[in-house]
Amino acid sequence: MTVNGPIPSKAMGITLVHEHVLVDFIGADSITEGRWNKSEVAEVALPYLNQIKKLGCLTLIECTPAYLGRDPLLLKSISLSSGLNILTNTGYYGAGNNKYIPRSTFDETADQIASHWTNEWENGIDGTGVRPGFIKIGVGSENLSDFHKKLVTAAARTHLKTGLTIASHTGPSIPAFEQLEILHNEGVAPVAFIWVHAQTEKDIVMHIKAAKMGAWISLDGINDDNLQDYVGMIKNMKENNLLDKVLLSHDAGWYHPGEKNGGKYRGYATLFEKLIPILRNEKFSEKEINQLLVLNPAEAFTVRVRKIN
Ligand SMILES: [Zn+2]
Repeated sequence: MTVNGPIPSKAMGITLVHEHVLVDFIGADSITEGRWNKSEVAEVALPYLNQIKKLGCLTLIECTPAYLGRDPLLLKSISLSSGLNILTNTGYYGAGNNKYIPRSTFDETADQIASHWTNEWENGIDGTGVRPGFIKIGVGSENLSDFHKKLVTAAARTHLKTGLTIASHTGPSIPAFEQLEILHNEGVAPVAFIWVHAQTEKDIVMHIKAAKMGAWISLDGINDDNLQDYVGMIKNMKENNLLDKVLLSHDAGWYHPGEKNGGKYRGYATLFEKLIPILRNEKFSEKEINQLLVLNPAEAFTVRVRKIN
């Protein structure tokens, strides 16, 4: 489900699964769309989108949640002007000590929270008509707090109603496995769950363990300075026949409201210009590269309910 409506998963092509166009860290209490000018943001972001389009990328998954600068109409307009498919999301980001959670949420039940998210799927986001393509939540990096358990429960219930994949900003393995347990208790299969920022977990045995359960392992912080780390993590998955569970991206961008011209914007080209050539040198076949860049994102983000059998 893109910001311009549904497309067949096969039409996604080469996909970046975790990037940002705009993020505003001001907090849920203070954020408004008046803090940025859509046409200025579009002007800043477009050259970076055009660059990856030229490199063969067809789809960009924009992971900025509500209350952190999610702007469906901005994404819709830059999708049309760049020709890239763009996905946005529903859900709440609890990482960062709940600074990005609207206060009214804390007293709500998991079902009430799930009903807000399901409503965005059914009726579009905030009257824009734009529908979310996945659920994005965020949890802390230690054991889950009760409130974060509630967010995960809400995500599981939203998944069962909508078929949207759950991408959770997680980091280390402790909260990753705790989330998988909650999903299990709610009857949601691990294959509906993306362990976002799995590269934060340095014990790569945990990547294998979660992937064998069926979860997606998102190695999504690629930059010019950490390429060898990524090659190591990807080879680890290949050696365990788990390349079909790996997602790759940069977590790059983005326009920073409040900074001059949106501040420093990091582009999305390193994967194409540097990492893939290294993988080719490391004897990865074109079939394996296609698996990583095309088949896995299409499989991960296809909208369908995934229950435990
Ligand atoms: Zn991110």
